[in-house]
Amino acid sequence: MTKVLKKVPTNSRTIAVNDKQMMFHVPTTSLFELDELSAQLIEAADSESGLSVDKLTQSLSAQTAKDIDDTVEQLIQLKVVASNDAGVQAFEPDNPEVTQLENIPLTTLVLNVNTGCNLSCSYCYKEDLDTPANGQKMSFDTAKKSIEMMLAESPDQPRYNIVFFGGEPLSNMPLIREVVEYAQARFAELNVPIDFSLTTNATLLNEEIIEFFQKHKFGIAVSIDGPKAIHDKNRITVNGNGTYKAVTRKIELLMKGYNARPIGARVTLTKGVTDIEEIWQHLFHELGFAEVGFAPVTSGDISEYNLSEDELKAVFASMIKVGRHYIDEAKAGRNIGFSNMHQLMTDIHEGTKKALPCGAGIGMVAIDHSGGVNLCHRFTGSDLPAFGSVIDGIDSEGLAGFIETRMDRTNTGCSTCWIRNMCSGGCYHESYARYNDPQNPTYHYCDLMRDWVEFGLKAYAEINAANPTFMDPFITPRRGH
Ligand code: SF4
Ligand code: SF4
Repeated sequence: MTKVLKKVPTNSRTIAVNDKQMMFHVPTTSLFELDELSAQLIEAADSESGLSVDKLTQSLSAQTAKDIDDTVEQLIQLKVVASNDAGVQAFEPDNPEVTQLENIPLTTLVLNVNTGCNLSCSYCYKEDLDTPANGQKMSFDTAKKSIEMMLAESPDQPRYNIVFFGGEPLSNMPLIREVVEYAQARFAELNVPIDFSLTTNATLLNEEIIEFFQKHKFGIAVSIDGPKAIHDKNRITVNGNGTYKAVTRKIELLMKGYNARPIGARVTLTKGVTDIEEIWQHLFHELGFAEVGFAPVTSGDISEYNLSEDELKAVFASMIKVGRHYIDEAKAGRNIGFSNMHQLMTDIHEGTKKALPCGAGIGMVAIDHSGGVNLCHRFTGSDLPAFGSVIDGIDSEGLAGFIETRMDRTNTGCSTCWIRNMCSGGCYHESYARYNDPQNPTYHYCDLMRDWVEFGLKAYAEINAANPTFMDPFITPRRGH
């Protein structure tokens, strides 16, 4: 049989950036610039008849046979091409082995300090959300047990994080203060850094709380949806009044009194809101946030607030528009604080290869007000049974089983998808809300995700070519926390 090489279509993606041919190597999530010979070989191997190396040696007379052999060998090693005599296995997509988890390497604890919230945002998806009067507060004992559980489950980590969540976390400041005091002493004993953060609607902030956050270097994200008209559509008080004015007054106070870390804005995009450029402009330039992140809602509990399919497309188109602005500014050495894009650049820069979509249930768990262990903050109060509790002990076996099942891509569309090591099947909660099954991949926006990642790869190559020093200074300090 004549030896013919064929491209393994699921293991690489060739991308043209200006006059360059780049290759995204799927198994390692690395981006390479292809030399002319490699590009030609891959293109020929991708044709119906495949690539006969003998034939190519004749047609590329300028190249030595050795050059061609060496390049072919490299491409075979990378599993980008395979020989027709190498068997079916050589053409199978490369997927990570499903490893058995012996312990859960927990480093982040999300504490739901109060199920109550002083606002009544119309789209709010929180499953355990209560009005202020009915809010159920976590006790200090539960919080303390949560910290001890994390340390027992996962000792000897280089750093740990505690994230305060709600409802509105500021509605239980006494507990936050107690936890900070306890954790600081406890982690100092161990000589390990502990980091605190929270997401707040900002309305309960005052100078004294801001000073406390400054002192303990809290990471702070504020939930705000954009300019007044957009924000006040949904982010309202229990009496139905818009909160923009109150929130922006508090943001001003925060910006004045706090500079320990960059302050982020977290925007929820729901029905009818697709122009992220306008929102980014307002939050970045007018209100002074260092970072603005967008969370499109496609499978919220209240379905009338979900973005429609067309709206979601419009959101991604708008993200690409702001992404282009990010590229132009990055070339000039400036970061415009567009978190979604910056996260994508960070993942590409670091070659992050994900066997799982996020740290939920593995590096991080969320503890509900009564001590139940949940995959993440979005599952507290949901019908998905908790994985044990901080009182009776974590259900390590159940959690490991959940993670191992999701790691196994057999018989899913993800096993052959070219962004499988970046998306890894998508958010568990999104799947839970959409398909009632957190294990199901988020198939409803795969094409948009793939377009977004392709845009990101091109953007990365473009930025790197024009300003190779952009990434490190902007990525390293961000990871410092
Ligand atoms: S969910 Fe869709 S986009 Fe994500 S890895 Fe699976 S198939 Fe690919
Ligand atoms: S499961 Fe979804 S919401 Fe929860 S941490 Fe992961 S990506 Fe975020």
